[in-house]
Amino acid sequence: MGTPKILILGAGYGGLLTTLQLQKKLNYNEAEITLVNKHNYHYITTWLHEPAAGTAPADHARVSLDGILNKDKVNFVKGTVQAIQPEEQTVTLESGEVLSYDYLVIGLGSEPETFGIEGLKEHAFSIRSINAVRNIREHIEYMFSKFKNEPDRTDYLTFVVGGAGFTGIEFCGELGDRLPELCREFDVDPELVKVYCIEAAPTALPGFDPELIQYAIDVLERKGIEFKIGTPIKQCTPDGVLLNTGEEIKSKTVIWAAGVRGNSIVEKAGFEVMRGRVKVDEYLRAPGYENVFVVGDCALIFNEEGRPYPPTAQIAVQEGETLGENLAALVRGDLPQKFIPHLQGTLASLGKGEGIGQVGSKKLFGSTAAMMKKASDLRYLYKIGGVGLALKKVKL
Ligand code: FAD
Repeated sequence: MGTPKILILGAGYGGLLTTLQLQKKLNYNEAEITLVNKHNYHYITTWLHEPAAGTAPADHARVSLDGILNKDKVNFVKGTVQAIQPEEQTVTLESGEVLSYDYLVIGLGSEPETFGIEGLKEHAFSIRSINAVRNIREHIEYMFSKFKNEPDRTDYLTFVVGGAGFTGIEFCGELGDRLPELCREFDVDPELVKVYCIEAAPTALPGFDPELIQYAIDVLERKGIEFKIGTPIKQCTPDGVLLNTGEEIKSKTVIWAAGVRGNSIVEKAGFEVMRGRVKVDEYLRAPGYENVFVVGDCALIFNEEGRPYPPTAQIAVQEGETLGENLAALVRGDLPQKFIPHLQGTLASLGKGEGIGQVGSKKLFGSTAAMMKKASDLRYLYKIGGVGLALKKVKL
């Protein structure tokens, strides 16, 4: 083999960290590193609930790749991946360009999992990219302005959030902060605005400590969010949602935040998947392929009890860092290391200055959790872009 070609798909947490680690570890002539991403920026997915609700500008959640990639070491291609042909060791972009590789890293993130619920794909929004959250924010504002012209249409002021997991809860926290501002701006009586957070599971935030869950619910209820727990959505229509109980909620805004599956490109490429995610081995390799690695939401890994880890940025970052080191080792003929996740805790924001968290056996509430989350954001920004980026981006 001449200079090995390493092709990385997706500049999310997993793909970007793989690239940055390779950039750090390898000299410019040791490998031909190419990163392909839809946009010329990385977005901080874990912040997207803020611009979606309108409590932060969308720009705040994106980081220009130009500022963090070393052009002498990484060839960046702005393009959309259309298909992967693992047998031919090639990737086709929507532009028609075909890229070949010796090593492939798949970090294409996730897609909403709709669990076959009728109408969700067609009529619900989801918090998944900078463009998607711009749409949500503008739509919410438009609903307020439309109501001013048609004051009997309270469905314009009814918002449905599907899912009381991490994303749904964080979004409700932000929306709860934004709505009073919108009511003032559009002269709308706050009593007319309704936000329903609907969850099929028997609890909000499954997997969290019950005391933390109760705290989150209390905070969000004080912000006006109404919970319907253990209540599956049966159907989504242009006019709202129909619940399994038979109740219909009329709403022009349904935001689906109840789960993700791996990017469909992976399944279409013929890899064996569970909910779109490839069950990778301890070196993050796709079964049957020595040279194809999968990170982030496209990868499925299990804990010691055989339970799958949920897809998180925390794990995607760790996978990317390990994989970058491993690829540098492989290029140099050294041995790779096994990937072992080190969970540092879980933190969820509940709007401005409020949050919950679990770090080891310690439970965190309110402003302490919110501050810990900011510290964790700072650490991430510092990791990818140094002090300059951390200072520029973090909101105090
Ligand atoms: P992503 O970060 O989604 O990146 C995928 C990249 O691939 C993107 O740059 C995308 O543009 C690109 N891409 C996709 N398709 C193509 C294509 N066809 N061609 C080219 N490029 C493509 N996790 C936590 O650990 N903590 C949290 O607090 C947390 N909060 C969250 C809040 C919200 C609102 C959301 C939505 C998620 C949250 N998560 C959180 C989950 C976390 O964001 C994901 O697990 C993480 O982003 C996965 O990283 P990834 O690298 O797999 O994919």
